[in-house]
Amino acid sequence: MRELLERQVRRAGLQNLVVLSNRTPYVFHGEEGDAATATRAVSGLVTALEPIVMACGGTWVGWAGRTAEESRLGERVAVPAGRPAYVVREIILSREEYNRYYHGCANDCLWPLFHCFLEKAVFDHDSWQSYVRVNRKFAEAARREAGEGALIWVHDYHLALVPGMLRKAGYRGKIAYFCHIPFPPLEIFSALPWGKEILTGLLGSNLVAFHLPGYVENFLRVVEKLLGAEVSYVDGYVRWQKRKMHVRALPIGIDYQEFDELAREEETARRAAEIRRHVNTERLVLSVERLDYTKGIIEKLQGIEEFLARYPDYRGRVTFLQVAVPSRTEVQSYANLRSRVEEMVGRINGQYASGWHMPVWYMFNALDRRELVAHYRAADIALVTPLRDGLNLVAKEFVASRVAGDGVLVLSPFAGAAEQLKGSLLVNPYDRVDLAGKIKKALDMPVEEQKIRISILQQSVRRYDLKWWWRGVLSGLGWQAEAHPENAAGSGPLAAGEFIPKQRLDG
Ligand code: UDP
Repeated sequence: MRELLERQVRRAGLQNLVVLSNRTPYVFHGEEGDAATATRAVSGLVTALEPIVMACGGTWVGWAGRTAEESRLGERVAVPAGRPAYVVREIILSREEYNRYYHGCANDCLWPLFHCFLEKAVFDHDSWQSYVRVNRKFAEAARREAGEGALIWVHDYHLALVPGMLRKAGYRGKIAYFCHIPFPPLEIFSALPWGKEILTGLLGSNLVAFHLPGYVENFLRVVEKLLGAEVSYVDGYVRWQKRKMHVRALPIGIDYQEFDELAREEETARRAAEIRRHVNTERLVLSVERLDYTKGIIEKLQGIEEFLARYPDYRGRVTFLQVAVPSRTEVQSYANLRSRVEEMVGRINGQYASGWHMPVWYMFNALDRRELVAHYRAADIALVTPLRDGLNLVAKEFVASRVAGDGVLVLSPFAGAAEQLKGSLLVNPYDRVDLAGKIKKALDMPVEEQKIRISILQQSVRRYDLKWWWRGVLSGLGWQAEAHPENAAGSGPLAAGEFIPKQRLDG
C-alpha cells in the first residue's frame, strides 16, 4: 500500500503535501509538544488520512489539543516518535478561540446544521468572527509550509474559509478541500447567516470533494442559487469569478489490506476468542462509535429494549456490547447525552438481566486498532445505526475484518456508507420496532446468506479502498495517478455514482 501511494505521488509530480485539519492525529499534553508522550486522536478523518501522509511525507497543520492565553504557532514535531514520516505543525488556540471558533461555531453551529439538525444549530456572531480569525491563522500557517509544487489539502467544516483566504493572499498552487460530513440541502443551508462566506471560501479550491453524489448535488445547487455561479451537475464543476473548480463524489475508503491482515493474525483470533469467553453469550452484537447525538445511540437502545420486550426467547442468549468513544466531553449537552445513555443501559440491564447474564455491556473509552479489530472479529453482528453520518468507517472496517466470511452488518440508510454497502441489512434508526425486527432478522439469518452478503460487501470495500480514494483526489486535481489492478475502475475523473455496486440485496 505504502509503495503504491508513493508511486502515485511521484507520478502526479506532487512535491510537497500540506494537510490541514482542525485536529492533528496527535494530542499533546503538558508544556512541551512531545510526540513520545502524545496520545492519539480517534476519528474517521485520522484513520483515512494518516496512511497517506505517512506514505507521502509532508506537513500536517492543526490543533493538537493545547490552549493558551494567546493563540500562537506551537511546535513543529516529526512523528511518529522514533521513525518519523511526516511533521506535525501545531497551532495553539487561545481559550477564547477554543470556546468560540471550536465550540461556538464548529460544534454548535456548523456540525448540527450540516447534519440537518437545524433546531440544534446556534448562530452566534461573535463565534463566527472567531471562526474567521482562526481560519486566517490556518491559512497563514499553510502558506508558510507550502513550497513550489505543493498541494494544500484542507479538511472539513472547521476550515471552510481557508482556500478562499489563500487565493486572496495570492497563493497560486493547488488546493483541494474534502468535506467529511454531509452537505445539507439548500433549504437548510440557507439558514446559515454566513453561507456565502463559506461558499466563497470553499471555491478557492481547485477540487471540492464530498463522500456522496447527493452531497455534491446539494453543494452545486446551493452555489448556483446563493452565488449565482455557473454549475454543471453532469460534469461536476463550478465556474465562478473566472475560475473553474471541480466538484467530486469520493467516498473515503479504508486500508482494506491492513484490516484484513490484522484480523487474520493469530494474536487477534486469540483475543477475539477471549472476548467471547468473557462476555459468555450465545450471540454478540457490537456497536462502536463516538458518543455523539448524530450516532443515534439512544434510539438504538430503545430498539434493543423493544427487541427484548417483543422476543422473550432471546433473553439471556444475546449480548449487546456498546463501545462509546468519549467525544466533546467538556460540552454540557454531550455530558447530558452520556448520562441518558448510561441511565438507559442501567434500566435495560435492571429489567432484563438474568442470573449472570447482562444484556447490555457498555464501555466509555476508545479501543486501539488491534483491540478494535479483535472486537469486530468477536461479534456476530454489527449494529451501525446513525441518525445521520457523512460516511461511517466503522461499518467498512467491520466488513473488512470478517475474515471467516460470516457476520451481519445492520446499517442505517442515513450513514453515507450505506450507498456502497449493498449487502447490509438496512434499518430505520428512528423506528424502534424496525430496529427490534432487524436485530431478530440478523440473529436468525442463515450462515449461507450471511456469507453471500459479506462477500458482496467485501468486494465493494476492497475495490473502493484508500488507494482508490487517493487516486480519485489526484485525478480530480488533473493529475495522472497510477491505478491499481484491484481497483482500476476507470482512469479519468470519477463519475458520480461510479462506486455504487451493481449487485443488490434487499435490506
Ligand atoms: N475508532 C477507534 N477506536 C474506537 C472506536 C473507533 O480507533 O474505539 C476509529 C475507527 O477505527 C474509525 C474511526 O474511529 O476509523 C471512526 O470513524 P467513523 O467514520 O466511523 O466515525 P467518526 O468518529 O469519524 O464520526
